[in-house]
Amino acid sequence: MLVSMLATSLAVLIALQIAKPLRQLTKASRDLIDIDESTISTGSSKDEIFQLTQTFNHMALSINQKLSDLETERAKLSTILQEMSDGVIITDRQGTIQLINKAAINLFKVSQAEPIGLTLIEVTRQHQIVELLESCAKNNKTQKVSFEILKTKQFVQAIASPGSDATPSLFLFIFHDITQERKSELTRRDFISNVSHELRQPLAAIKLLSETLLDGAFDDLPSAKHFLQQIDNEVDSLNNLVNELLELSRAEAGHINLELRAVNSLDLLEKIHERLHLLAEQDNINLVIDCPAVLPLIKADKLRLEQVFLNLVHNAIKFSHPGGEILMKAEVGDTELIFSVHDDGIGISEEDLPLVFERFFKADRSRSGVGTGLGLSVARYMVEAHGGKIWAESRQGMGSTFFFTIPFLNSPLTLP
Ligand code: ADP
Repeated sequence: MLVSMLATSLAVLIALQIAKPLRQLTKASRDLIDIDESTISTGSSKDEIFQLTQTFNHMALSINQKLSDLETERAKLSTILQEMSDGVIITDRQGTIQLINKAAINLFKVSQAEPIGLTLIEVTRQHQIVELLESCAKNNKTQKVSFEILKTKQFVQAIASPGSDATPSLFLFIFHDITQERKSELTRRDFISNVSHELRQPLAAIKLLSETLLDGAFDDLPSAKHFLQQIDNEVDSLNNLVNELLELSRAEAGHINLELRAVNSLDLLEKIHERLHLLAEQDNINLVIDCPAVLPLIKADKLRLEQVFLNLVHNAIKFSHPGGEILMKAEVGDTELIFSVHDDGIGISEEDLPLVFERFFKADRSRSGVGTGLGLSVARYMVEAHGGKIWAESRQGMGSTFFFTIPFLNSPLTLP
């Protein structure tokens, strides 16, 4: 009897001892998943093990839900990071890469298949980034630097920030491609220096001529006339420069208002011939029209098109040898007329050919008085505003041919 009572008491004691931590575990689990104790039904489930099982099931469900929410968030962030156009790299204090996105891989032309775990210098080959990390870690502040990527010649701005309180040992790098901004800035600076240079030359000539006149040449009528004529020429070239600059700035701002009408190209070719054949003949150059007797009408702004032609034929005369021949052609294409101006003059070298439509480009800088270097860039804008294309073929010493297309009257206008 005593033995059985002892056994029963022992069993109750053991049960109580087991039940206590079980209850504590159950409560802790409920707290963990935010289950209100009062909402738990006690009914037939007084049994602690049953309650613990139930709570664990709840907990498993809740943890699964939280994990899946976290996974969704992680996937969203990862997509944003990978699709960002800016490069992103996260490293530790030693510069070991913890994360790198697609844009950064492309920007630095990373060759390693698995860059995670490698160092910044191994992956990017840019010492500036390592210096940036040093400075960011030392000052514990966001730091910036701009540099050129050796492999691609692109310019980037890199911003390094120290990690937040939650990630104090990590550093975030953002790389923004500023190649285009830098190019525009350089072009702007180039433009100003080119304009100044182009203005200085005729202004210096006018100054010299007027000083010569004031110094006495004025009293000698034939010399005075000669100097005044030269001044007049210089003023013409200044005028030309200013007009071309205005045209160019209007074109670049997208302010070319074309008056598109049906244009008869034969009339146009004849008009150009009439205007320039005497100038060509002065250099013993023969200006010839070569085209079918009937041509389809084109859709064009007649004055602008004349300007393009005048420029091309002027150049052809300027860069031809005496006794040469210039051919103005029009051929029928699929949806457009293909015009061309061919000369047998000095030609353009292979390396200069892709540059001739650039602003202020002159193959021979020493012939500074000869032109502004703007004519072809204006012509390109005009042709493209018509929905056409312009290009050149040439070989040094073998002459040049400049082509451009203008759509037929009835073809839909395709603007660039
Ligand atoms: P420019 O006013 O100097 O003629 P353009 O823009 O019309 O300016 O031409 C740019 C440069 O392209 C010229 O300075 C010349 O070097 C080259 N070029 C243009 N047309 C010809 C041509 N027909 N033959 C040889 N070189 C040419």
